[in-house]
Amino acid sequence: MNNTFRDCPGCGSYREFVQLHAEPERCPDVPSGRCPEWFCTACGSSLLLDLVPALGSRHGHTREAA
Ligand SMILES: [Zn+2]
Ligand SMILES: [Zn+2]
Repeated sequence: MNNTFRDCPGCGSYREFVQLHAEPERCPDVPSGRCPEWFCTACGSSLLLDLVPALGSRHGHTREAA
């Protein structure tokens, strides 16, 4: 199971987060299939984490070709 450590808004401290689904890569909730939902193992607070690695995405600057 995947896990990560983040600041939990519920606990107010650094906690271990795990994903809800057994197969987080195949989440039915999002088009990409990568579930963004994580849960604190201590208090159960959910957190949406975008852990998708940078896949050579655009840099946000669009330039009009003349
Ligand atoms: Zn917590
Ligand atoms: Zn999901």
